[in-house]
Amino acid sequence: MTNSVERATELKRELRTQLLRWFDRSKRDLPWRKSREPYGVWVSEIMLQQTQVERVVRYWTKFLAKFPTVKSLAAAPLEEVLGLWTGLGYYSRARNLHVAAQEIVARFEGELPDSVDALLTLPGFGRYTAGAVASIAFELEAPLVDGNVARVFSRLLELDGVPGEKAREAGLWAAAEVLVSGARPGDWNQALMELGATVCLPQNPLCLVCPVRASCKALASGRVDELPRPKKPPKRKRLELAVAVARRGDEVLLARREEKGLFGGLWELPGIELVLGATSDRALQKLLGKKAAIGPEFSVVERTLTHRELVMRLHPVALPKKLAAPPPGYLEWRWVPRAELAALGMSSATQGALAETTD
Ligand code: SF4
Repeated sequence: MTNSVERATELKRELRTQLLRWFDRSKRDLPWRKSREPYGVWVSEIMLQQTQVERVVRYWTKFLAKFPTVKSLAAAPLEEVLGLWTGLGYYSRARNLHVAAQEIVARFEGELPDSVDALLTLPGFGRYTAGAVASIAFELEAPLVDGNVARVFSRLLELDGVPGEKAREAGLWAAAEVLVSGARPGDWNQALMELGATVCLPQNPLCLVCPVRASCKALASGRVDELPRPKKPPKRKRLELAVAVARRGDEVLLARREEKGLFGGLWELPGIELVLGATSDRALQKLLGKKAAIGPEFSVVERTLTHRELVMRLHPVALPKKLAAPPPGYLEWRWVPRAELAALGMSSATQGALAETTD
């Protein structure tokens, strides 16, 4: 930590001058940068986590057209919010956005609060999001560190340490705090992220055209290719599901998950986790009841998620004409014409499974 603070303090004046000048010249023209309205900034920051900026521009524009204020988002059914999120992934972000909007209406009269501490009390706000909204929308000297900033600092300040290690994270946040204090904190944070996204790239950074190359410690010591050190690969749990594919003419039977947990609130083909030793047809019989006729497995769809290896075993299923209550774990189920599938919030894993069910 001492190293990071010392180096940030030593380079602060020149870095701020060089980087802010570069940002003024070359920042990308993004819709949420025009007004810096707190709600728009917040939505953009949530969408930008794990998603490319070009993609976010499309989703953000549609989202703001449909829900132009915190109040309109708070009043919308979750299903509608998830529908607009389809394709962006990480659906807990959309659920948190929705719950947080309701809290903002209940506790802050529909306006985002203008302090980091108050923002941190809202669902979905970690240090990063609170720092981004506070600095960009409210011009507070609030630090932030995301993957881009961590990479830039690792090289610029020549910081060792493996991503995820506590000491490294603490050092990065301490450096961010030193550097954000001063004029234009929102622009400073955006300039850092922009540098990481467009110049100080993970592979083959564009050091020759980098606006802070004269100050970069890793460049001076020839260690750009070594920093940041590689992450430890995440341990993924295998999750195996038996999945029912019930069809009626052009319609498919879909069920909406309870709102908590993995894929919460999303539509999917009804399924059940396979516990050790269970066969998929027996598990489905248990899920759907005695009257369901379960056919043999016809396809297996595999997906790698952030923390899981997902395996879906698909079975054709025939159900009685009148649907009983939805199976355990689901809020509702219904027959959905294929033409209407695109309007429902569903994971890419479910989209992959549905692709296996077309004739
Ligand atoms: S000089 Fe290269 S390594 Fe250093 S900050 Fe710029 S792009 Fe990154």
